[in-house]
Amino acid sequence: MGRRLTEFLNSSSSGKFRLILVAAFAVVSLLFAAALLSPESPFFYLPLRIALSSRRPRIYDPTCDSRRDHHSYSATKYHRTPSPQPSPYLLAKLRDYEDLHRRCGPLSDPTLNPQEFRTDDCKFVVYAPSQGLGNRILGLSSTFLYALLTNRVLLVEFGPDMEDLFCEPFPNSTWYLPETFPFRFQLQSHRFRKAYSFGTLLQKKEEDQQNSAPALLQIFLQDKYNDYDKLFFRDENQGFVHRVPWLALVHDGYLIPCLFQMQSFRSELEKLFPDQETVFHHLAKYLLSPSNEAWEHITGFYKAYLAKAEERIGFQIRVFEPKKTTFPAVMKQIMSCTQKHRILPQSRSKSIFVASLSRKYYEEIDSMYGERSHGGIAVYQASHEGKQHFGDNSHNMKAWMDIYLLSMSDVLVTSSMSTFGYVAAGIAGVRPWIVMIPDPYHPRGADEPSCERAVNIEPCFHFPPWFAYPDQPGTVGPVARCEDVSWGLKIVGG
Ligand code: GDP
Repeated sequence: MGRRLTEFLNSSSSGKFRLILVAAFAVVSLLFAAALLSPESPFFYLPLRIALSSRRPRIYDPTCDSRRDHHSYSATKYHRTPSPQPSPYLLAKLRDYEDLHRRCGPLSDPTLNPQEFRTDDCKFVVYAPSQGLGNRILGLSSTFLYALLTNRVLLVEFGPDMEDLFCEPFPNSTWYLPETFPFRFQLQSHRFRKAYSFGTLLQKKEEDQQNSAPALLQIFLQDKYNDYDKLFFRDENQGFVHRVPWLALVHDGYLIPCLFQMQSFRSELEKLFPDQETVFHHLAKYLLSPSNEAWEHITGFYKAYLAKAEERIGFQIRVFEPKKTTFPAVMKQIMSCTQKHRILPQSRSKSIFVASLSRKYYEEIDSMYGERSHGGIAVYQASHEGKQHFGDNSHNMKAWMDIYLLSMSDVLVTSSMSTFGYVAAGIAGVRPWIVMIPDPYHPRGADEPSCERAVNIEPCFHFPPWFAYPDQPGTVGPVARCEDVSWGLKIVGG
């Protein structure tokens, strides 16, 4: 027992102990390597950082074709309803924002760094997405509106899977987070949340409403956010948040109904969006122009297959649990909806565009309505990816193409709970018919309607805090529960 370690290792009776020691060393080394390579470790991102830093510098491209041409593809040609127009106040606010972005953004200081950078003049909000493209677009638009409301510069932390989907939105600048930013690709980690989140500060009672504010604060608003995180949506906390130069918003939802419910933002929102029901439409049209590459795919498909029709009908069919929700059950809902509301009468030349991960729905709709059986109707699908992929740029490009092609429809039939459908309808400016897709957690009763016409083109926020519901004291905004998600909130002004 009292022998020294070397002696112990060298002793003839210690062979098996040596083996044990070597094995223990191997296990410890493996654990150490796993810790280093975990997504929470900065080392995990090293190869990614090297790959990213070799990319060409990005900057606003004035030759963004979709920004110039998208009006000629707008969805409302057939129904002749005018596209919603932004208010002069919103246009002025956007011009002011562009000046702010140019003055404070990454091109004015390529080494922006929250630890060194503390000025009252420029404040930032970084958007870090994680879920599917529809969710990301809603999250990004909400973060941009928060930036407009609080005079912050929006920067995005996009990984390679988001490359080349959108044109840079802000003239003579970039919205990409600088590569020198020290917490790049760590903003969503559990460790970062524990150290820097607003909810954690509140929980530890470390936030000091009167005095110092940290240089950087994570605002965690994902679906599993806790009661402390939710307090971000309380007016009394915005003063503290406002003093923090760098915010990192980690979420993928349409937060805007909750912003409407806050006294801090309500009157400014009313001025920006007098009709209150086209908020997402205007934000997305301004912020998210398809890149030239995406636009080539979109317009190429459109001209080849959809342009000829007098009327275009888009079907967006999203089944969250394809192993548990049967194909006939979904088709039954879709058919019951389209027949009841006479969405597919035979009288004129129509094209049907089907967006779905599965090919089966396209095949079924084509066999029922396609040219072979009905002279005037042609059915198309651009891709069928099988399942959602993560971290895949070409998959996201196809998703963006599907969303945008749907948004060129005159009539839209979308799926309940799907942000993909909300985004398409919002960009289109078309009130969709939302088909209630049955799933194991929300089985549909025989007497329940198969679909509902959305009251407007605003998306639904699926995870509002309890105090944002319209019947809670102190809430001030024009929101109501969503058509398709009873616990969700949407803006219903006007
Ligand atoms: P949600 O899950 O329906 O709310 O929509 P999201 O866009 O957030 O996530 C779903 C993801 O699955 C998309 O981003 C795509 O990657 C993929 N996906 C789902 N439906 C479609 C579709 O109709 N077409 C394509 N191309 N991809 C889809």
